[in-house]
Amino acid sequence: MRMYDIITKKKHGEELSKEEISFVVNGFTKGEIPDYQMSAFLMAVCFKDMNVRETVDLTQAMIDSGETMDLSQIKGFKADKHSTGGVGDKTSLIIGPMVASLGVPVAKMSGRGLGHTGGTIDKLESFKGFTTSLTREEFIDQVNTIGLSIIGQTGELCPADKKMYALRDVTATVDNKALIASSIMSKKIAAGSDVIVLDVKVGSGAFMKTLADAKALAKLMVKIGTGCGRKTYAVITDMSQPLGNYVGNSLEAYEAILALKGKGPEDLMDACYTLATYMLLGTGRANSEAEAKALLKDSIESGKALDKFAEWIAAQGGETECIYNTDKFKRTEFSEDIIAMNDGYVSAIKTDEIGMTSLILGGGREKKDDVIDPTVGIKIKKKIGDYVSKGEPIARLYANDIDKLRAASARIHDAYIFSKEKVEPQKHVLDIITK
Ligand code: URA
Repeated sequence: MRMYDIITKKKHGEELSKEEISFVVNGFTKGEIPDYQMSAFLMAVCFKDMNVRETVDLTQAMIDSGETMDLSQIKGFKADKHSTGGVGDKTSLIIGPMVASLGVPVAKMSGRGLGHTGGTIDKLESFKGFTTSLTREEFIDQVNTIGLSIIGQTGELCPADKKMYALRDVTATVDNKALIASSIMSKKIAAGSDVIVLDVKVGSGAFMKTLADAKALAKLMVKIGTGCGRKTYAVITDMSQPLGNYVGNSLEAYEAILALKGKGPEDLMDACYTLATYMLLGTGRANSEAEAKALLKDSIESGKALDKFAEWIAAQGGETECIYNTDKFKRTEFSEDIIAMNDGYVSAIKTDEIGMTSLILGGGREKKDDVIDPTVGIKIKKKIGDYVSKGEPIARLYANDIDKLRAASARIHDAYIFSKEKVEPQKHVLDIITK
């Protein structure tokens, strides 16, 4: 088999065999297929797509590229969640401790920022010293002792996804259903949890721009998960505007702490409660949505979820000072309000542009090895449906580089669309796919 022929075949829209897909994944993982050929292949998949059979085979080849985690040493049903990627999405930082504080073990493998979207690991690393490079034993031990652990992708689990993810991030080959489904489901299945809750995002800040595409992606992932014997649910959530009010790594960690203190914005809490509800239902911790919601609300109001968060950050080596005193978060050198030029209602936000602005400020990677600045980002002051008067701030930028601040400022102006008529914001949870 030759990689050149497989790229050509996909370029012409032909279906690849299981053997061809394994050849690509194995060859790339072992370093026998270079980045430039893999990039061409991924781009061909973006243009010509893969069918369900190819996607299932791709997922399996990615699982087989490494080891799988045996979580049988952890008592009870283990739950995991994963998002397809969004802007301002800090839900894992909130849901993990909420669910773990209710006695459900959360054993999660997370990723870094991808394209214009943020990544859970980058957000967690804004707690100085926090590490996700745990051995399998440390990971299992931590879930057994405190009920919650998040690891990054090791060289052992799904190494194919680790390499492909980094390459997709910088070659504009993220937004394809087969690539997203195989990337997420290979990690989730290899990581071993019994219950998988997927947050499939739709809108201007998501990789899926239409509800029809989001539903198709959700169904594909639920099919792969249930086919592998995992209870899998997909919640389709709105990403037509950033989730919550902050975008940027430590700003989002800050907002997650506010949420755990009971001061989270409505859209963020709606997403967290719904996703966490399905983790409780899937593991049998709750028998109805109402019971799950009551348990989750109590985890916040009693302070148990916040304490679990602090315990978790400390267990993985992170400094916890700023959890109970958020003034301790490191500030940026510069900050600046973005001022509305005219009166009107915010009718739409180009949310991918907001994510890209955070990246440009230094909060994400333009090249694979870029080091990110955890402190930079954006506070979203006006959201869809809000009325804005000329001269009012719509957002605030936090930066450590004045040129980047200028470039970011222009992008935020372009990202906001205004209208004279009032616009109703979408509800946040749009659909739930359980089969
Ligand atoms: N999250 C992942 O882990 N992979 C993707 O492809 C997109 C989001």
